[in-house]
Amino acid sequence: MKYISTRGHGPMSFTDILLEGLAPDGGLYLPQSYPQLSSDDLRSLGEILVDEGYAQFAAEILHLFIDDIPMHDLEQVCRRAYTKAKFGTDLIAPVDELEPGLWLAHLSQGPTAAFKDMAMQVLGQLFNYELTRRDQTMTILGATSGDTGSAAEFALLDASRVQVFMLSPLGRMTAFQRGQMYGIDTDRIVNVTVPGSFDDCQDLVKAVNADAEFKSRHSIGAVNSINWARLVAQVVYYISSWFQASGGEGPVSFTVPSGNFGNICAGHVARMMGTPISHLVCATNENNVLAEFFATGVYRIRTSTETFVTSSPSMDISKASNFERFFFDLTGRDADEVRRLFGEELNRSGVINIRDKVYVTDPARVYGFQTGVSTHADRVATIADVFRRDGYLIDPHTADAVKVAREHLGPEPMIALETALPVKFGSITQEAIGRVPPIPARFAQVMEAEQHTVLCDRGVDQLKQIIEQRSIFRRDPSPQAW
Ligand SMILES: *Cc1c(COP(=O)(O)O)cnc(C)c1O
Repeated sequence: MKYISTRGHGPMSFTDILLEGLAPDGGLYLPQSYPQLSSDDLRSLGEILVDEGYAQFAAEILHLFIDDIPMHDLEQVCRRAYTKAKFGTDLIAPVDELEPGLWLAHLSQGPTAAFKDMAMQVLGQLFNYELTRRDQTMTILGATSGDTGSAAEFALLDASRVQVFMLSPLGRMTAFQRGQMYGIDTDRIVNVTVPGSFDDCQDLVKAVNADAEFKSRHSIGAVNSINWARLVAQVVYYISSWFQASGGEGPVSFTVPSGNFGNICAGHVARMMGTPISHLVCATNENNVLAEFFATGVYRIRTSTETFVTSSPSMDISKASNFERFFFDLTGRDADEVRRLFGEELNRSGVINIRDKVYVTDPARVYGFQTGVSTHADRVATIADVFRRDGYLIDPHTADAVKVAREHLGPEPMIALETALPVKFGSITQEAIGRVPPIPARFAQVMEAEQHTVLCDRGVDQLKQIIEQRSIFRRDPSPQAW
């Protein structure tokens, strides 16, 4: 199995794109073709899920996409990633029926109570595995507004070959998120706080990456959502959720609370592989870039002032980074067209209009996509209603999904993805049901831990200095030392 960039680069092997992330031509990697699952394959995968559990099931799916890591090692990677100790349940990602016809896939049982753990745990294990095999080390530099940063840090806690510098906007995350991230006490994980917004943090990351010499001297890498390994780890729970809700018979649909289009893009891949999925419903909040595209054929990225700060903050995006992957398939895998539109036109005008393109044959019908939008008032009402009616407390992102899922119920099971637990979002829970969410026992210590941060308030040179001074992989800068 080889990989190609949406803009033409490649073919490459899996472990090369694993460490690389974004392709050198600015595109995103995808497999040259999607492995196909016959109904016999699906049936035997279902048996593996039931008999051997989620980790083995995940290894089987990953193995379809990864031919340069031996199966035995992939099994180890998945067993370390998906443990009961980390996820609090043997099932790892249980699925149950919330209301007649509406199911919830519980993807937020991991160490940071958000679905990003599902992929990040595998990514952390794969990084450490491959870096060990190559006898290399890596410095992860990232920016977070909350969920990604903590999921990455918890995934890389034991990765001795990786050091993490994670930038976060000073004072802008919830108390729980701060407690979780800043409470980590090891010199391999450095939390850098930046006065300003998430965009300011991201600008600093970009500025460091623009210094090619510094970047290569510290082997700086990223764990952002465009990494294919994260996406493929997410394909796994679409197939396991299909199996659990359908019993292995007949199709299901999914509603996915979407931001960067990573999660739902994994659903697209699962569908392209032959998993019986009727519809992929893309739920957005007030930041409706994606809903607008599917309704109009116009993809218009927003400026930061046009991007609303909402009560489902992990979906507050100005552009959907993973969208280019779906777009590549939509054009019939035409890398020249993608390069022209995403590499040029989008940079120039901020808009792509494909309404009149010949390759667009009703994406809703061909690829199963539907959309829906929710507002803050919808989220509050949905949290309150689900709590009253079903006796279950959901977080605001899951509320976006449930609100939209209820509008798209059909004859087949509809599975809404639960992408975070309410414990992370106290204030909207208070607004909806009149009290703050209970803190699950395994998170009881989060608010008590002593917090460790480094302030960066003087720009990119200071950030480089911080990395320089705290690096645990200091090495001779001469090329031979590599
Ligand atoms: C990241 C995130 C999302 C959005 O997922 P994408 O893959 O960016 O579409 C939704 N909900 C929660 C809780 C998240 O952390």
